[in-house]
Amino acid sequence: MLNETHDPALRSWVASANSAGTDFPIQNLPFASFRRQGSDEAFRGGVAIGDQILDLAAVARTGMFSGDAGQAVQAGAQPRLNDLMAQGAPVWSALRLALSRALREGAAEQAALKDCLVPQAQAEYGVPARIGDYTDFYTSVHHATNIGRLFRPDNPLLPNYKWVPIGYHGRASSIGVSGQRFRRPVGQTMPPGATQPSFGPCKRLDIELELGIFVGTGNEPGDPVSMAQAEDHVFGICLLNDWSARDIQAWEYQPLGPFLSKNFATTISPWIVTLEALAPYRVAFERPADDPQPLPYLDSEANRRQGAFDIQLQVGLQTHRMREAGQGDASICRTSYRHAYWTVAQMVTHHTVNGCNLQPGDLFGSGTLSGPTLDQAGALIELTAGGKNPLQLPGGESRTFLEDGDSVVLRGWCEKPGAARIGFGECRGTVLPARA
Ligand code: MN
Repeated sequence: MLNETHDPALRSWVASANSAGTDFPIQNLPFASFRRQGSDEAFRGGVAIGDQILDLAAVARTGMFSGDAGQAVQAGAQPRLNDLMAQGAPVWSALRLALSRALREGAAEQAALKDCLVPQAQAEYGVPARIGDYTDFYTSVHHATNIGRLFRPDNPLLPNYKWVPIGYHGRASSIGVSGQRFRRPVGQTMPPGATQPSFGPCKRLDIELELGIFVGTGNEPGDPVSMAQAEDHVFGICLLNDWSARDIQAWEYQPLGPFLSKNFATTISPWIVTLEALAPYRVAFERPADDPQPLPYLDSEANRRQGAFDIQLQVGLQTHRMREAGQGDASICRTSYRHAYWTVAQMVTHHTVNGCNLQPGDLFGSGTLSGPTLDQAGALIELTAGGKNPLQLPGGESRTFLEDGDSVVLRGWCEKPGAARIGFGECRGTVLPARA
């Protein structure tokens, strides 16, 4: 799985890509859709390198790449990345190799490529794909148990959980990119002890720390994707905040699941990190021996050996007052994707086993990625025990659920000895007051 593009000794002629702690060294090379801030330029694909973006439309005009890499650059020059996503894993890999070689110190392409760079500080981002369908899974057993305990103290985990990768079909139209600002939703809630619902602004607005999984090549209707093929259909992974109105959710969710409590906004990071870039950070998928093992269609030797990813995750909260005081966000959660109960491959295979077709640019949410301990919980409803234990913030404020003006920042990165540290950038969103 590892190749020359993962070599931790590689350095780029883009100097900022070599600085310790950068999210975007030459070993990462994630994709986004961008243009210059405040311009009327067309959006086009770009690749992060240090604090710069390599503009794929500009690279396409140089004509310097041919074959699969040239075809990938042409597809990546489009406003959204669906065409690139449709090309398939060998083409994505050919582009990664060509870019890795052309961005290395001493590369002959430096003279031509340096004119294709745009500073990230001058960019604005778009949603990276036309997302046809969005599916939100529920792959953290710790989240499912914590939430279940709040609703059903005697029976926190429903009997299907350890057998079926649970999910629901979400809403694609309200997915926005980092920087998204949205109004607090209004809706129906049933206050405790009341006999009829009230209507008004959500009082329990929450976050969900998730990863987004972008589908690359699709499958034909009726043509399931096996575990052996599943990862070939995945373009890459981003950060995803599934904002949730818990009071609306509690009243509306039975029997069909979340609806207006979820579909008002979902925020993703602009950068999609490819599975190839994440290869050094694969880890074994492990099930406790006394848990049910996956049914054969959800099992494979490769999945057991290396189907999970050790992606470090963090949630930061910055209140309006903190922002006014020039104070950065405060960390409220730290965890890793390795604790998920189901893998990316299992999500793809389960989603298609009934014949459902996926299309390039479809998006999966992983579900809230809570880890095994309370400080690793990826939602306020868990961190505050359903609003009973407020979080204390530096500066003296506290929070149970989000207040107007609060910003939430998700961050993700991978690091370990012997591999280059790579990151996901950030996924930021801000709550505005409800419409009067
Ligand atoms: Mn969710």
